[in-house]
Amino acid sequence: MLRPFELHQPSDVTAASALVGRYGDAATFYAGGTELLLIMKEGLVAYRHLVDLKTIPGLGEIVYDDASGWLSIGGTATHYALERHPVVRRRAPIIGEVERHVANIRVRSAGTIGGNLCFAEPHADPGTLFLTMDAEIDLASAEGARTVPIDRFFAGAFDTARRPDEVLTRVRVRPWGSQTRGVYTKFGIHERPTLGVALALTLDTDRTVVRGVRLAVGCVGPSPVRIAEAEGRLQDAAMSEIGPHLDAAAQIAGDAVDAVDDLHGSAEYKREMVKVFVRRAFHAAAARFV
Ligand SMILES: Cc1cc2nc3c(=O)[nH]c(=O)nc-3n(C[C@H](O)[C@H](O)[C@H](O)COP(=O)(O)OP(=O)(O)OC[C@H]3O[C@@H](n4cnc5c(N)ncnc54)[C@H](O)[C@@H]3O)c2cc1C
Repeated sequence: MLRPFELHQPSDVTAASALVGRYGDAATFYAGGTELLLIMKEGLVAYRHLVDLKTIPGLGEIVYDDASGWLSIGGTATHYALERHPVVRRRAPIIGEVERHVANIRVRSAGTIGGNLCFAEPHADPGTLFLTMDAEIDLASAEGARTVPIDRFFAGAFDTARRPDEVLTRVRVRPWGSQTRGVYTKFGIHERPTLGVALALTLDTDRTVVRGVRLAVGCVGPSPVRIAEAEGRLQDAAMSEIGPHLDAAAQIAGDAVDAVDDLHGSAEYKREMVKVFVRRAFHAAAARFV
C-alpha cells in the first residue's frame, strides 16, 4: 500500500531544492517513480512530500555543444528519449544502443537518467558506459551549483556524492573520437543486469596498434568502476599480438572488481565472468573497425 503523500510541482530547480530542504527527511525528489514508488509501496521508505522534477521546463533537454564537445543530457530525460533522440544517435549512438536494452518499455518510458544515476542501484547500465565517456554530473540546489566527475559520484550501493537537496540537473558526456569504437556488453539472469562491461578502443590510423582503451565494469560490485590498470596493460600493444595482453588485462579486471555474492551469483563466478566479458568486449570493439 502506498501511504498518502503531498505532490509538489515547483517550476524550477531552486524551488524544488528549497522544498526538499524545508521538509527535510519527510521529502524527496520524484521523477519517473519507477524505483521510488516501488520502495515506498514496500514500506522501505516513507515520504510525506514528493517534489516532482518532471514538470520543470527544460530539465529533460538533450543537446550537443559544438564549442565544448559535451553532449548534455537533462536529468529528467527518459531512457526512451535517449534511445530515440536524433542528437544522441548522431553524436553518441552507443548511448541509444545501451538504453534500448534497459529494463522494459514501461520502465524506459517513465524512468529517467537522473533517477537511474541518483538511485545508484548496483545492477544498472548507464553509469558504467558513462565512466568511459568521462561524464560529469551537474548538481544544483537552493545553495548553488557544482559538478562532480562520474568516477567520484558513485559512493556505494544506493549511495552517491549528491546531497538530499541537490537535483541532478544534467549529465554531460564526451562522445568518443573518430578513431575510437566501443561496445557495452551485458549479461543477466534476472530482470536487472548481472554484469555490464563498457569498452572503448582507440587504434592508430593503420589500425594495427592500440592507442588507448577505456574499460569500465558494472553490476558485479556496489558501484561501477573504471579499471585503469587493465587499460594500461593494453596500451601500445600490437593488434597482431593482442592475445597475451588481453588475457593479462582481463585477469587484472577480474581481480580488481569488488565483486559481491548476491542473488545474481557468487563473487568468484562474477570475477570469472568479468574476465570472459572483457575479452569479448575488446573483440567486439575491434570488429567495429572493419
Ligand atoms: C523492472 C525493472 C527493471 C530494470 N532494469 C534495468 C536495467 O536493465 N538497466 C538499468 O540501468 N536500470 C534498470 N532499472 C532501473 C531503471 O533504470 C530506473 O528504475 C529508472 O531509471 C529510475 O528513474 P526514475 O525517474 O523512475 O527515478 P525515481 O524512481 O523517480 O527516483 C529514484 C531516486 O532518484 C531520486 N531522483 C530522481 N531523479 C533525480 C534528480 N534528477 N535529481 C536528484 N534526485 C533524483 C529520487 O529522489 C529517488 O530517490 C530497472 C527498473 C525496474 C523497475
